[in-house]
Amino acid sequence: MPEDLSGANPRGLHFIAELANAVQDGTRVGPADLQELVERHGGPPFALTDSDARQLCEATARLIGILATQDEDRAAEAINTLLDHYPARPRLVRMPGRPWSLHTRARPDAAPADWLLSTAALALGLWLGERGRCAWGQCAAPGCGRYFIDTGRRSPQRYCTPRCATRVRVAAHRAHQPPR
Ligand SMILES: [Zn+2]
Repeated sequence: MPEDLSGANPRGLHFIAELANAVQDGTRVGPADLQELVERHGGPPFALTDSDARQLCEATARLIGILATQDEDRAAEAINTLLDHYPARPRLVRMPGRPWSLHTRARPDAAPADWLLSTAALALGLWLGERGRCAWGQCAAPGCGRYFIDTGRRSPQRYCTPRCATRVRVAAHRAHQPPR
């Protein structure tokens, strides 16, 4: 079963951001939660053990290191390192009613963390290549810090959601009101 998680495909990239946010929150990312997240984004139906979950969280921490940088040279170097160690196996796949698109497949014996790193490295690499910059980031709103994929075409995105952008704008507006 091919994974719909690679290519310059925001869907796969949103999976990476959501995983980063889940791991960053850190409260309770056990096998069941990770499995649900992977499957909801079209990943393989893993039967994750506690040790798989730990390794997935460690792998996600490496991806967070990339999502946290806006330095495209450093990001490219980190992605290349991952691609060296966890080569992806991209293939063009045509899903029913859809155009051809590039997907990766997990080797049948691939550990879940290896699958994640190879898939994510390819997706982030294609995205960096297409956008020519680190089109992702960490929300600048105080107290948020969630990671996001910047799919906008204009100025770089600073906040994870319009909700955070509005919250910051309202706070800034209030701060400029004369004291009563
Ligand atoms: Zn935010």
